[in-house]
Amino acid sequence: MTREHRIAFSLSELNVVIFECCTCKSRVALSPDEAKEPPGRCPLGHEWDWNVDTNYQSTRSPFIGFLLALRKLRDPLCERMGFRIFLEISEPGFKADSQQDNA
Ligand SMILES: [Zn+2]
Repeated sequence: MTREHRIAFSLSELNVVIFECCTCKSRVALSPDEAKEPPGRCPLGHEWDWNVDTNYQSTRSPFIGFLLALRKLRDPLCERMGFRIFLEISEPGFKADSQQDNA
Protein backbone atom coordinates (compact mmCIF):
# COMPACT_ATOMS: atom_id res chain seq x y z
CA MET A 1 0.00 0.00 0.00
CA THR A 2 1.29 3.41 -0.91
CA ARG A 3 0.51 6.32 1.32
CA GLU A 4 0.68 9.85 0.06
CA HIS A 5 0.81 13.06 2.08
CA ARG A 6 0.02 16.33 0.36
CA ILE A 7 -0.12 19.88 1.61
CA ALA A 8 -2.03 22.59 -0.24
CA PHE A 9 -1.61 26.18 0.76
CA SER A 10 -2.80 29.55 -0.46
CA LEU A 11 -0.31 32.15 -1.55
CA SER A 12 -1.21 34.24 1.50
CA GLU A 13 0.17 31.42 3.69
CA LEU A 14 3.57 31.63 2.04
CA ASN A 15 6.00 32.87 4.70
CA VAL A 16 9.24 33.16 2.77
CA VAL A 17 10.87 32.31 -0.53
CA ILE A 18 14.17 30.54 0.07
CA PHE A 19 17.07 30.67 -2.37
CA GLU A 20 19.62 27.88 -1.94
CA CYS A 21 23.07 28.23 -3.47
CA CYS A 22 23.81 25.41 -5.94
CA THR A 23 27.50 25.55 -4.99
CA CYS A 24 27.56 25.66 -1.17
CA LYS A 25 23.89 25.01 -0.22
CA SER A 26 23.72 28.14 1.96
CA ARG A 27 20.33 29.80 1.94
CA VAL A 28 18.76 33.24 1.86
CA ALA A 29 15.11 33.67 2.89
CA LEU A 30 13.06 36.61 1.67
CA SER A 31 9.54 37.56 2.67
CA PRO A 32 7.37 38.02 -0.42
CA ASP A 33 5.94 41.16 1.21
CA GLU A 34 9.29 42.77 1.87
CA ALA A 35 11.56 41.52 -0.91
CA LYS A 36 12.54 44.34 -3.21
CA GLU A 37 15.72 43.18 -4.85
CA PRO A 38 17.06 39.64 -5.01
CA PRO A 39 20.56 39.05 -3.66
CA GLY A 40 23.34 38.97 -6.23
CA ARG A 41 25.39 36.51 -4.18
CA CYS A 42 24.89 33.77 -1.62
CA PRO A 43 26.04 34.43 1.98
CA LEU A 44 29.42 32.85 1.11
CA GLY A 45 29.88 35.02 -1.99
CA HIS A 46 28.98 32.72 -4.89
CA GLU A 47 27.44 34.71 -7.72
CA TRP A 48 23.77 34.41 -8.50
CA ASP A 49 22.86 35.51 -12.00
CA TRP A 50 19.25 36.67 -12.18
CA ASN A 51 19.63 37.59 -15.83
CA VAL A 52 20.26 34.11 -17.29
CA ASP A 53 18.31 33.89 -20.51
CA THR A 54 15.47 31.50 -19.71
CA ASN A 55 13.71 32.28 -22.97
CA TYR A 56 10.81 33.60 -20.95
CA GLN A 57 9.26 37.05 -20.58
CA SER A 58 5.66 37.90 -19.82
CA THR A 59 3.38 40.86 -20.15
CA ARG A 60 0.34 38.69 -19.50
CA SER A 61 -1.80 38.75 -16.36
CA PRO A 62 0.01 37.94 -13.09
CA PHE A 63 -1.96 34.69 -12.84
CA ILE A 64 -0.89 33.44 -16.28
CA GLY A 65 2.62 34.82 -15.73
CA PHE A 66 2.82 32.95 -12.40
CA LEU A 67 1.86 29.61 -13.98
CA LEU A 68 4.23 30.05 -16.90
CA ALA A 69 7.07 31.22 -14.65
CA LEU A 70 6.58 28.23 -12.32
CA ARG A 71 6.89 25.86 -15.26
CA LYS A 72 10.02 27.64 -16.46
CA LEU A 73 11.62 27.82 -13.01
CA ARG A 74 11.15 24.07 -12.49
CA ASP A 75 13.39 23.46 -15.48
CA PRO A 76 16.75 22.17 -14.19
CA LEU A 77 18.45 24.47 -16.70
CA CYS A 78 17.41 27.34 -14.45
CA GLU A 79 20.07 26.22 -11.98
CA ARG A 80 22.46 28.11 -14.24
CA MET A 81 21.32 31.08 -12.18
CA GLY A 82 23.29 29.56 -9.30
CA PHE A 83 20.43 28.90 -6.90
CA ARG A 84 17.37 26.75 -6.38
CA ILE A 85 14.05 28.06 -5.07
CA PHE A 86 12.05 26.70 -2.12
CA LEU A 87 8.75 27.98 -0.74
CA GLU A 88 8.22 27.89 3.01
CA ILE A 89 4.89 27.79 4.83
CA SER A 90 4.07 27.12 8.47
CA GLU A 91 3.10 23.54 9.19
CA PRO A 92 -0.69 23.32 8.89
CA GLY A 93 -2.36 23.05 12.29
CA PHE A 94 0.82 23.97 14.16
CA LYS A 95 0.77 27.03 16.37
CA ALA A 96 3.93 28.14 18.15
CA ASP A 97 1.88 28.99 21.27
CA SER A 98 0.47 25.44 21.52
CA GLN A 99 3.77 24.15 22.96
CA GLN A 100 3.40 26.53 25.90
CA ASP A 101 -0.07 25.17 26.65
CA ASN A 102 1.46 21.79 27.54
CA ALA A 103 4.03 23.24 29.97
ZN1 LIG B 1 27.23 29.66 -2.17
